[in-house]
Amino acid sequence: MRIVLLGPPGAGKGTQATRLANHFQCPHVSTGDIFRANVAEGTPLGQTAKEYVDRGDLVPDEVVIAMVMERLGAPDCESGFLLDGFPRTVAQAEALDRRLADMDTPLHVVLCFEADDDELFRRLAGRSAQLGRSDDGEATIRHRLEVYASKTRPLVDYYMHRGLLDLVDAVGQVEDITVRILEVLRVAGYRRNGNGHRRPGLTRAAWSGRIHAPRTAR
Ligand code: AMP
Repeated sequence: MRIVLLGPPGAGKGTQATRLANHFQCPHVSTGDIFRANVAEGTPLGQTAKEYVDRGDLVPDEVVIAMVMERLGAPDCESGFLLDGFPRTVAQAEALDRRLADMDTPLHVVLCFEADDDELFRRLAGRSAQLGRSDDGEATIRHRLEVYASKTRPLVDYYMHRGLLDLVDAVGQVEDITVRILEVLRVAGYRRNGNGHRRPGLTRAAWSGRIHAPRTAR
């Protein structure tokens, strides 16, 4: 499976990605984790990324895109991957599309995690107390939620128009949310024929929603 997890900070993408990667035995590619590891090691990439990560801003597209394209070229990504935190801008999504089209390995599904801002803020503030992440201060949390709304939320439309988007209610127990996601993926499996091409007989409307409609319903 080639899956993108989309959603605001604090929605639980990382937690679910770890569980799903384990379930599907595929690599979990988290751009946030890669940046944090590079910052901790003081690599040139980490030095470039640090100021953006600490401020809660997005690392420039060209830096992120180059990093992810290199990661996706690794042998362990050949049979699938779970992208967590990428893409976050339309330019990143377009770069990913181009790359996957070149390889004839399109995405199967984009899961968009949904939770309201109060819930997200509460979770992020809780995580700040627990983990002490450099970007989990109150003002930075607010800023990251704003950055999500302005730069990343447009990807909901982007992927909806491509018939790839499924929404996931990200509020509840971790285990219950995993069950929800697996069910969404099971249904998405019906819409996809395994190699990522649209199944014949389904309309565009049927692809972008949850309904299955015969071709004659167009
Ligand atoms: P995350 O752990 O996914 O919330 O990412 C932490 C931080 O890493 C973000 O606030 C950004 O500064 C940076 N980052 C992660 N992924 C991306 C991306 N796709 N584009 C730009 N910056 C990113």
